[in-house]
Amino acid sequence: MVVVIDERRIVWKKCKNCGFLQHKTHLRCLECKKGDFETVEVSGSCKLLSYTILTAPPAEFRDKISYAIGIVEFENGIKGLGQITTQDNLHIGMKLKPIYKKICENLDGKEIHAYVFEPI
Ligand SMILES: [Zn+2]
Repeated sequence: MVVVIDERRIVWKKCKNCGFLQHKTHLRCLECKKGDFETVEVSGSCKLLSYTILTAPPAEFRDKISYAIGIVEFENGIKGLGQITTQDNLHIGMKLKPIYKKICENLDGKEIHAYVFEPI
């Protein structure tokens, strides 16, 4: 079964057998190997788990000298990866909120939209 999910929603899969929460791309539960899931959407704000500053951005981000990218965890355990809107005063555990926006134009000139994370 193919599940089409609005790209503006940040969702993961929760195993109906054991409750394990994992990224939506996995076909089977990483814990119990069953394949029956429910969709779980993020809730609340998120906290910064880790981050780095990219000083050699890929070609799509040719208009930037550098940018921050981080791993966040939402209040219900879902994790996400994305750019952070600032490089200043970042610290592990800080609160962020997701914002869906244009992040670049690809090499064909098409606008690419994704979630970025902004300090609260
Ligand atoms: Zn499971």
